[in-house]
Amino acid sequence: MEEKNVCGICQGGCHVITDIEDGCLKGVRVDKDSPLGRLCPRGAIAPQILYGEQRIKHPLIRTGERGEGKFREASWDEALDYAAQLIRDTAERHGARSLASYYGRGVLGMPIMAYGVAPQSPLYRLGSPNDASCGSICNLASSTMAPQTVLGLGVRQMMPDVEKSDLVVVWGKNSATDDGPQVMIARIKAAQERGAKVIVVDPRQSGMGEIADWWIPILPGGDGAFASALLKIIIEEKLYDREFVAEYVQGMEEYAAYLQGLSLETLSSQCGISVEDMRRFVAEFTSTTKACLVAYTGLEYALTATQANRALYVLWGITGKLDTEGGMYLNCRGVPTFQLASAPEGDMPLGFDDAPLYYGFCKQAQFMNFPKAVLEGDPYPVRGLLVVGGSPATSFPESDTWRKAYGELDCLIVLDRFFTEDSRFADVVFPVTSVYESIKIVPSEEGRKLREPLIDPVGESREDCLVMSELAWRLGVGEGLPRTTEELRDWLLTTPIPFAGDFVIRKGVAEREYRKYESGSLRADGKPGFPTPSGKLEICSTILAENGVTAYPEYVDIRTLDGMDRESYPMLMTSGSRSNNRMGCLGANFPQITRIEPEPLVEICEEDARKLGVEDGGRVRVTTPTSQAEFTAKVCGVAPGGIHIPHGGGSAFDNEAWRDGGVNALNSLSTRDSISGFPAFKAVPCRLEAL
Ligand code: SF4
Repeated sequence: MEEKNVCGICQGGCHVITDIEDGCLKGVRVDKDSPLGRLCPRGAIAPQILYGEQRIKHPLIRTGERGEGKFREASWDEALDYAAQLIRDTAERHGARSLASYYGRGVLGMPIMAYGVAPQSPLYRLGSPNDASCGSICNLASSTMAPQTVLGLGVRQMMPDVEKSDLVVVWGKNSATDDGPQVMIARIKAAQERGAKVIVVDPRQSGMGEIADWWIPILPGGDGAFASALLKIIIEEKLYDREFVAEYVQGMEEYAAYLQGLSLETLSSQCGISVEDMRRFVAEFTSTTKACLVAYTGLEYALTATQANRALYVLWGITGKLDTEGGMYLNCRGVPTFQLASAPEGDMPLGFDDAPLYYGFCKQAQFMNFPKAVLEGDPYPVRGLLVVGGSPATSFPESDTWRKAYGELDCLIVLDRFFTEDSRFADVVFPVTSVYESIKIVPSEEGRKLREPLIDPVGESREDCLVMSELAWRLGVGEGLPRTTEELRDWLLTTPIPFAGDFVIRKGVAEREYRKYESGSLRADGKPGFPTPSGKLEICSTILAENGVTAYPEYVDIRTLDGMDRESYPMLMTSGSRSNNRMGCLGANFPQITRIEPEPLVEICEEDARKLGVEDGGRVRVTTPTSQAEFTAKVCGVAPGGIHIPHGGGSAFDNEAWRDGGVNALNSLSTRDSISGFPAFKAVPCRLEAL
């Protein structure tokens, strides 16, 4: 029977028409009548994904050596008992802190995420501080840490007023290749059609750069240098809103003194944008009152990435484009001042020494530090891991280091829908249901509602929350966690879900009030200003200063690090952006997808290709300070001096080209942003040679 539904392959929420017969998904097509209608290549092959060979259909227990991928089918009771025994043994032998968990992109915003935070978390209840998630390498820095330390707000509380803008600056987001319904790209194109100018700052032209009125090809990782240059010109030439700065800004003098010590020529060589183009950008930006910013995670992955992100909010703030019509509307009122979480009592979570602010913002371990804890016992030995809906081995840097770490574990438990590189190393693999087969929370004007499963569970798969509850109950820490479908329904209606919305659809649009920092309606205490500790827009952040971090948006070029000089590595590599054909480890394991993207390609511009003797379709070797790998070249629109290699690959379940071409082998676990602890995915010094 055909009916309107929401796609259940990822959490994008695209509206589709499903054809379901006898509890089985037979087909899916786009819902052309819905503004949220979309069907990406993954959504289009939903029946093959749900019922195909890659789907985990039974509980599995390892029979071969760790990493061999040899398993036998087991009953649910046997697998749950065995997994609980392994977890218990590990905790008894090495202490509860030797256990960690990782909740991946595959379950982001889904109810199971609640099992990765206190008080529900089984590991927390056992005494481990090491629950972690894909927030360790995605989104938290740009959506929370950067805007909170400038404005006291999160990205969800801001809204680019695209519909009323005369200038839309797209910086760090490729709306043309996003997951989910392509609402933002439609909004940007509509703005462009009514005469707004679109400027795209991106090392790659593909996607938004092709739509832009002005594509600015920035060198990978050069965002902080470009933003610093723009702010230097604006501040030194007094092109900012002087009244706003005098009344509402903290740290202008200190920042101006820092910028004075930088030269535009040096910044230009660091970001690949000429001083002339910097001045042209400033002229267009400062002469346009209605200018908004469309940004996302593109600035998160460099040495001083969080500071580069902060610089963007400073740029919009001091030029009078915050909370204005056509600028960045602050879509919130009465916001309390953000409180950083203090260090936990007892054992410190992984990564706390390297990036304490990461814990302060999300109360989770920084999972970038997991391999070091396993392989070097730093800060203490970790011996057990629970992976839920994710694949650290193919999404974090240094895939081989993860494989080595997995080889050393006493206990690796995986809950997933599909086989991953990580599941090959597991002791126990649990099959869990996809969104199509699960009870789903849907938002409504009254709040949460439940949608019953659309199809029958595939094989013996079960709801992930119920599997985790069963493990917790067997470990003696299950109190309050749902064990039956009825209990699950009640729990889903009441439990806070991390990284998810409040599930309330707001009726109508409340009347807008601009410049709320003047009236006092922005802050919870009703005082004028911003909900920051100082009450001002903080160029110099109180939180950063109190935690021993440079308080203003400082830029440090990655080439100043030992062994990353331009002579050895004349180019810069960017990776990490997701393709809309693939999501994480889901994609390159299906022939229908690899027909579209048969292999990972190194994108390089024509000028560099000519210089290096690289031909379109020819083989090249890419060498970084971490490793080297061979790829096929694609000559296309990329910033001169930069190359792009797509994220993904590196799994034994991928086709041969993707399996051997995992870009994460080239990235480093130790080159990180010091505030967030995120990897420098988008600023990797490299050299390229034609083969
Ligand atoms: S982006 Fe693709 S897989 Fe995700 S919900 Fe939309 S159609 Fe489905």
